[in-house]
Amino acid sequence: MADPVLIHTDRGLYCPAGDFHIDPWRPVDRALITHGHSDHARPGHGSYLATHAALPVIRHRLGPITTEAIAFGETRRIGTATVSFHPAGHVPGSAQIRVEVGGEVWVVSGDYKTEADGLSEPFEPIRCHTFVTECTFGLPVFSWAPQAEIAHQINTWWRASAAQGRVPVLGAYALGKAQRLLSLLDPAIGPVLTHGAVEATNAVMRAQGISLPDTVPVTQATAIKDHPGALVLAPPSALGTPWMRRFGATSTGFASGWMGLRGVRRRRAADRGFVMSDHADWTGLNTAIRETGATRVFVTHGYTAIFRRWLAEQGLDAHILETEFEGEELDRPDTSPDPEADA
Ligand SMILES: [Zn+2]
Ligand SMILES: [Zn+2]
Repeated sequence: MADPVLIHTDRGLYCPAGDFHIDPWRPVDRALITHGHSDHARPGHGSYLATHAALPVIRHRLGPITTEAIAFGETRRIGTATVSFHPAGHVPGSAQIRVEVGGEVWVVSGDYKTEADGLSEPFEPIRCHTFVTECTFGLPVFSWAPQAEIAHQINTWWRASAAQGRVPVLGAYALGKAQRLLSLLDPAIGPVLTHGAVEATNAVMRAQGISLPDTVPVTQATAIKDHPGALVLAPPSALGTPWMRRFGATSTGFASGWMGLRGVRRRRAADRGFVMSDHADWTGLNTAIRETGATRVFVTHGYTAIFRRWLAEQGLDAHILETEFEGEELDRPDTSPDPEADA
């Protein structure tokens, strides 16, 4: 019997036919990378293959690395494997990776969401025999409201905070969530001030041609009274730190899928929680899996045991794919292992 298309190794998923890894967590010669979040794009690989749209952020985060770019939908022969990258809808440039060997097709989802956010290339279901899917939010309790509804909640909170003389400080991961929120904020209410970590990613995206609304970077010289009605966009790790003192009276908000869980909001030390994620919810996961037509599914990240059993009950050949990061996001949503990790 031929080797499987992809096998699990201590460095991550490996393709014997092409001699490459996908999103490996330990250094390898050749890495195919779904997107720039730090649990997927790790330092130390010999070369990095990612989409044109994902590479600028990966380079920004990892410094001098050897890279190779691929367009969405373009096919490339690596050894005896044929690979292509397809939109995952998670953050700008994020991809699912399709690998075909001898007529057998596997797709690795990376992180994905099925709702179009207006900024990321919208998710495309790809037919395959075996689908490796994340299931960060693989419980029925996770059900996202339409993006426009959450945007309305956030803008309403902004307006109300400003009316009370408070500066709203919205916590959002620097890559993806921050830009998505920025594009949903109502510029009629006031200017958007940005923390350096958010602004650095904004600058990388603007330079690659992604259009983002105007922002005002916060510097030592920034006086909040010069920016009436402003909202501040900052990474979650900045909430509650001395950096915020310059804004006087604030109201803090945090946008994450974890806000859909009872009790999490309290532990996050934010005044307001908004349930918005760059990952698929329960319905999104199930729809995506069905649309691949895959009969075999590997689940990774999040509620893997429960989700695997659910898929098996639906008649799928379902397995858990362990990763080095397994469980951390789940156990400690209030203290994410990596402030840049996404949710
Ligand atoms: Zn991600
Ligand atoms: Zn991830």
